[in-house]
Amino acid sequence: MSPKRPEPRPGVLAIEAYVPGKSTAPGIAKVFKLSSNESPLGASPKAIEAYRSLATQLQDYPDGSASALRSAIGRAFGLDPDRIVCGAGSDELLNLLAHGYLGPGDEAIHTVHGFLVYKIATLAAGGTPIVVPETNYTADMDAVLKAVTPRTKLVFLANPNNPTGTYVPFDEIKRLHAALPPHVLLVLDAAYAEYVRRNDYEAGLELVATSDNVVMCRTFSKIHGLAALRLGWLYGPGHIVDALNRIRGPFNVNAPAIAAGIAAIEDAAHVERSVAHNTKWLAWLSEEVGKLGLQVTPSVANFLLIHFPQNAGCTAKEADAFLTARGLVLRRLEPYRLPNALRMTVGTEEANRLVVAALKDFMRKAA
Ligand SMILES: *Cc1c(COP(=O)(O)O)cnc(C)c1O
Repeated sequence: MSPKRPEPRPGVLAIEAYVPGKSTAPGIAKVFKLSSNESPLGASPKAIEAYRSLATQLQDYPDGSASALRSAIGRAFGLDPDRIVCGAGSDELLNLLAHGYLGPGDEAIHTVHGFLVYKIATLAAGGTPIVVPETNYTADMDAVLKAVTPRTKLVFLANPNNPTGTYVPFDEIKRLHAALPPHVLLVLDAAYAEYVRRNDYEAGLELVATSDNVVMCRTFSKIHGLAALRLGWLYGPGHIVDALNRIRGPFNVNAPAIAAGIAAIEDAAHVERSVAHNTKWLAWLSEEVGKLGLQVTPSVANFLLIHFPQNAGCTAKEADAFLTARGLVLRRLEPYRLPNALRMTVGTEEANRLVVAALKDFMRKAA
């Protein structure tokens, strides 16, 4: 019997929608939003100006191929613009990859505390997410390789990972790639690459340039402080770029985003300031929170994972309520299978100091 109303494809209603970080605290006027890894320094003033300059041309379609932006990215990173695809956030690119390369019966691997979009994009494309364990909250290349089957089509790997803040050294990524069958597409999601200060880290440009089955995704939402505009880009082999260009929306990136993105990527000084702020305060927060007796997973990104004890009075849930009452909004991580931890974005100096002071009071009260 046919249904009485339109029904989505099988599986769609089994998908749990992505829940964004909270942005409000009930009854609190001044809120510090530290739940979505947004930039405490905001966007480059030049990017804001470029965005404003488009206000009188809103009747015009954007350049559907975002060529000026791809050229600016190409200049900044020494890449061929023909091998770049821009998207409405890297979320769109991750979804395009899933829709382009997965069908019913196909498997996509991600790690247990990996970015939630991988699971949603995989299920939305009709594929099957295969979840593999991590070691010390870090992606484990042997666990990924063990999960590969003849049905594997994609491996999604955030490096550094959100929400854990950990990273995989590039030698390990190369070892993974060398052992993957050539038909498996390795997706390196380097949303936080700019923040990493480690000699053994690479985002993956060279591996993409020399392989047929690796892409790297980047975003303007984090270091460039342009999350509101929804802008990301992907660097990949020509044959993958060609496939994605066939299925993306013809005007998927909007004109103000293109203009702001060009200005942002050309403002190296602003990027440097944002990195310097993060390096300083990430270290400070990790140390100060650690001194309170809370475990902090070593992070190379713009946020940190704080673990709470499980005894009544000092749980992550109670800490979240305590902090929220002071206008300090962190991220709860139940959907990421980390119910005993909170994720805190590195904020302004004021926000960072307030969180440490509040956690100190929380721990004293709990003791
Ligand atoms: C924030 C984030 C992104 C970027 O998402 P946008 O859609 O570009 O805003 C991608 N991957 C990870 C792991 C992230 O944390």
